[in-house]
Amino acid sequence: RVEIREVHKSYGDVEVLHGIDLTVEPGEVVALLGPSGSGKSTLLRTINHLETINSGEITIDGEFIGYAERGDALLELPEREILNRRLRIGMVFQQFNLFPHLTALENVTIPVTSRKLSSKSDAWARGLELLERVGLGHLADRYPRQLSGGQQQRVAIARALMLDPDVMLFDEPTSALDPELVGEVLQVIRKLAEQGRTLVVVTHEISFAREVADRVVFMSEGRIVEQGTPDVVLGNPREERTREFLRRYL
Ligand code: ATP
Ligand code: MG
Repeated sequence: RVEIREVHKSYGDVEVLHGIDLTVEPGEVVALLGPSGSGKSTLLRTINHLETINSGEITIDGEFIGYAERGDALLELPEREILNRRLRIGMVFQQFNLFPHLTALENVTIPVTSRKLSSKSDAWARGLELLERVGLGHLADRYPRQLSGGQQQRVAIARALMLDPDVMLFDEPTSALDPELVGEVLQVIRKLAEQGRTLVVVTHEISFAREVADRVVFMSEGRIVEQGTPDVVLGNPREERTREFLRRYL
């Protein structure tokens, strides 16, 4: 379970998260919606400590990713320990972030091979299985430049699965894709949801959110202004800001 309590985050003097409270239960699929600049990416990045926070706390199954408790205070952990704890979270970015000089299979297995967490042959077997699961078993030896955007993003998802994370974070995973490639990536995420994975997905794909999410969380100007089942938040939103957003994206 991901627990986010009273999180405030500033860049310099500008506060961009104004006290965020959010709990994501195991197996839950949360769609995070909101206008550009509302703080969705920042919030997602604070969960795995790609961004520090100014106050509040974030835990995964009770454990901090970036901090250790010392009496009443929280101290930032050494980088090495943060990297270790971050392994429990899979993150998928808008821009895929694959290594261009590595094949699809090498990209998928890098979380294991770079840390020598298992033998190379075990890593490759698992990597190949994951590539097959996202429909790319036959393209394991291709380099990213030889793959379509949709295929590259599916490689990135397979990589995020490599260490069997407790929670997966997606930041607009289909925004960089040509429209005809969006469906194949959403299909992979839909399958993860059906398999009971814990997912937080920032997306502008409203129909996908309606169909796949257990809960829709709507952010505006650094606050969660509305949340609930897709039916309620997307079908009958309480807040004018939510209605305006939906008019734009539906
Ligand atoms: P989008 O839909 O465009 O991706 P978002 O909801 O993900 O938007 P964020 O990227 O989280 O929004 O940005 C929230 C606010 O924080 C914005 O005002 C943005 O300009 C600001 N911001 C984000 N990253 C930084 C940074 N590294 N330094 C300074 N300000 C930042
Ligand atoms: Mg963003």
